[in-house]
Amino acid sequence: MDLYEYQARDIFEAHGVPVLRGTVASSPAEARAVAAEIGGPVVVKAQVKIGGRGKAGGIRVAETPEDAYRAAEAILGLDIRGHRAEKVMIVECVDIDEEYYFSLLLDRTSRSYLAMFSVEGGVDIEHLAADRPEAIARVEVDPLGELDAETLVAALPEDVRLKVIPVLRQLLDVYRAEDATLVEVNPLVLTVGGDVLALDGKITLDDNAAFRLDNRAELADAAGHHDPVEKRAREHGLKYVTLDGSVGIIGNGAGLVMSTLDVVTAAGERHGGQRPANFLDIGGGASPETMTAALEIVLSDEQVRSVFVNVFGGITSCDAVATGIVEALTRLDEASRPIVVRLDGNSVEEGRAILEDFDHPLVTVVADMDEAADLVTELAGRN
Ligand code: GDP
Ligand code: MN
Repeated sequence: MDLYEYQARDIFEAHGVPVLRGTVASSPAEARAVAAEIGGPVVVKAQVKIGGRGKAGGIRVAETPEDAYRAAEAILGLDIRGHRAEKVMIVECVDIDEEYYFSLLLDRTSRSYLAMFSVEGGVDIEHLAADRPEAIARVEVDPLGELDAETLVAALPEDVRLKVIPVLRQLLDVYRAEDATLVEVNPLVLTVGGDVLALDGKITLDDNAAFRLDNRAELADAAGHHDPVEKRAREHGLKYVTLDGSVGIIGNGAGLVMSTLDVVTAAGERHGGQRPANFLDIGGGASPETMTAALEIVLSDEQVRSVFVNVFGGITSCDAVATGIVEALTRLDEASRPIVVRLDGNSVEEGRAILEDFDHPLVTVVADMDEAADLVTELAGRN
């Protein structure tokens, strides 16, 4: 889950990382009130989960509360590279001397964290990494160990180094305490007054750790982190993940669903690059109702152009699955997308017989998994 800048700012503050005073606002009038309370010049910043706001007109300096009103008016509703600004953050304006870059991320390859620092911050770090990788210092961080901050900031003059290092350590505390997979500060600034501040923050939280942190539900709500389809699936006890392809996938058991994703991806190459639209595991011992819910959920996704139901009956019996399909299609008169079903194992004959009797024009039963994958991706490519 990616957080908004203002959420990152609040988290930084809670962990003692030096940040500017800042408050989020959803209307120009609110922005004016916040600016008046801060007093003096402020910066009005679009809250969107994408970088490059500055260049897109999403960051404006406002000298007075009236200016802040107008700046918010200009920014709210603005489309920044496909992201609509629904909120702005108002922060006090500071005079910047230097802008640095710092990030901490999870490096799965080395099974550790990776810390990066550059004295050339503020800019587009992807470009810097591509053009002059030597301008970015990198150190591995043992997840249970210390940060070798001295190596990281060797390019800074000594007096600045002494101010920056404790901030980097606090940012590592944030990373660990909040179970993040990314903490990025760009820019980390040295002000004209000699203070080090995290001026812009980006935090990605590890959703796998959500259960052990009390603040997660609230953060997720504010971060707009609720895929409506994923939410409905959860309510039905289904394991569902949205992907970006066109073929809906329903199976029983995580292993079977994963191999179905692979088989569909491979077959999809022959049909214009069709790919899975989701992962959905109905689990063991699924009832007809579970199957109906699964199909309704997958078909509620408009990017789905065909559906593959791949069930190997074990605890789940094929007749329950077939009954669920019949029920879903009887109820949804707008199903309108082809469904390819491959059943095997427990009660397979009964299951196939139910679907044969049903004789629905959208349903095709295929015995072999590879053939089924070929057909379902062909149908997705055609639709
Ligand atoms: P991004 O463009 O989306 O990464 O947004 P940032 O928050 O990083 O802001 C972009 C740039 O705006 C920074 O690198 C600064 O140069 C400038 N900026 C942001 N806040 C302030 C501020 O309080 N004072 C000054 N002088 N410049 C700021
Ligand atoms: Mn930035």
